[in-house]
Amino acid sequence: MRNKYTIAIHGGAGTILRENMSAQQEKQYKAALKKSLISGTKILNEGGSALDAVEQSVVVLEDCDLFNAGKGAVFTSKGKHEMEASIMCGQTLNAGAVGNIRNIKNPVRLCRKILEDDSIVFLAGKDAHDFASSHAIEKEEDDYFYSVMRYNQWKAARNTDDMKLDHSDDKKFGTVGAVALDIDGNLAAATSTGGLTNKQFGRLGDSAVIGSGLYANNKTCAISCTGYGEFFLRGVVAHDISCLMEYKGLSLQEASDIVINQKMTALGGEGGIIGVDAEGNASLTFNSEGMYRGVATPDKIEINIYR
Ligand code: ASP
Repeated sequence: MRNKYTIAIHGGAGTILRENMSAQQEKQYKAALKKSLISGTKILNEGGSALDAVEQSVVVLEDCDLFNAGKGAVFTSKGKHEMEASIMCGQTLNAGAVGNIRNIKNPVRLCRKILEDDSIVFLAGKDAHDFASSHAIEKEEDDYFYSVMRYNQWKAARNTDDMKLDHSDDKKFGTVGAVALDIDGNLAAATSTGGLTNKQFGRLGDSAVIGSGLYANNKTCAISCTGYGEFFLRGVVAHDISCLMEYKGLSLQEASDIVINQKMTALGGEGGIIGVDAEGNASLTFNSEGMYRGVATPDKIEINIYR
C-alpha cells in the first residue's frame, strides 16, 4: 500500500471568460468545485476506493444546479430533463452507464448499481427505471431538476430546430466528471450530464458511452470528457488517450495533447478532458476558453476556471 492518491474533477468546458463572470458567480462555482473535490479526497484519504471517490464527487456536482447534471440539467425540446451518465473501474474494467433517463436524482448512483451487476453495462429509457426501483435508487419529480438559468436557455432555443450546447450563445458545456487514483493503485472515472439544450429524437452524446466520454484502465489512465459530444463520439476520445499510452508508451499529458489539441481541434470539436494516470499524474487539457476544474493530492488542492 502506498499513501499517494490523486483526484481531478470538471464541471464542463467552453467559452468561460473572466469578463463574463461576476465575482459572486465565480465564488459560487469555485465553492461547488471545492466541495466536490473535498468529498472525494476525504474518501481517498481514509483509504477508500477510487470508484467510491469519483461517485461521491460527481454526486456533489449533480446536486448543485450550477452544473448540467442531475439538479439543473438542461431541457429537451419537449421541456423535459433526460440524463446520461457512466462510471468505470480501472481494476476490473467493469462499467455502468445510463442514457435517456428521467427523474433519477443521481444518475451516477444508478450507474454504480449497474457496474456492480456483472451481466450488464448500459441501460436506457423508461425500463431502466424498473432497474432503478429494484435497487432503491432515489427518484425526484420533474420540478426538482428545474433551474431558471437552464429554463431561460431552453426558452431561447425551443422554437428552433437547433440542439444547443447548454450555454448555447457563449458555448459552455456543463457536464460534470471525476477521475481518481486511490492508495491501492486503482483508477476510476465517472461522467454525468443532461446533454444538449433542446435536444430531439432521443439524441445521446458521449457522456454515457464507454470509451468516448469516459474510460478507466489501471494499465494506463482514467479519463472523463466534456464538450460537444458528437466530436467525442467520433473521436472515441477517452479510449484513444488510453491507447496512445498503452500501445505507444506516451505519457498521459502527451496523449491528451495529441487527442484534444491536435485530433479534436482538427475535427472542429471543442471541449476537454480530465485524466489521472497510474502514477497519480493529472492532465486537465482543453481546447476551449475555459473549463471548470480542480485537482487534489495529499499535498495540494487546486481549482481553476479560465485558461
Ligand atoms: N458532452 C456532452 C454532450 O454532448 C455535453 C457537455 O459536455 O456538456 O452531451
